[in-house]
Amino acid sequence: MVDNNCIFCKIANGEIPSKTIYEDEEFRVILDLAPATKGHALILPKAHAKNLYELPEETAGKAMKLAKKMVITMTEKLGCDGFNLLQNNNEVAGQTVFHFHMHLIPRYENDNQHLEMKPTEVTQDELEAVRKQITE
Ligand code: 5GP
Ligand code: ZN
Repeated sequence: MVDNNCIFCKIANGEIPSKTIYEDEEFRVILDLAPATKGHALILPKAHAKNLYELPEETAGKAMKLAKKMVITMTEKLGCDGFNLLQNNNEVAGQTVFHFHMHLIPRYENDNQHLEMKPTEVTQDELEAVRKQITE
């Protein structure tokens, strides 16, 4: 349930103080210490799961529902113009804390923040090969 060596377990369960903006039996939502934008928050399940691979399906569903609720409330309160949801799994994908978390990143006109993806070019054949690899 809880990993004694995990900082987000300690934060989620209140052993280490945090700027909490929401809490219920299963989740805590905290402000990120190094925010990408004003109001950048993290949804933390209280039970330890390393990432989405390990997260129970039911918790994953609840996390997404909570994200929607937080996005609506935070948009009202902060007056932001949009939102990014970001969720990193494994080091190669940028995960640095190995307790599942979902980033809620409010976006503002001219916030000068860039969460960039670099588009690449592929052929229809290449797309089809990938489609087959995933579905067959
Ligand atoms: P990741 O790169 O694993 O998806 O994101 C980890 C996030 O956790 C980063 O945005 C980082 O700023 C935040 N973070 C790391 N340690 C702490 C902490 O002790 N408290 C809070 N509030 N945020 C943290
Ligand atoms: Zn943990």
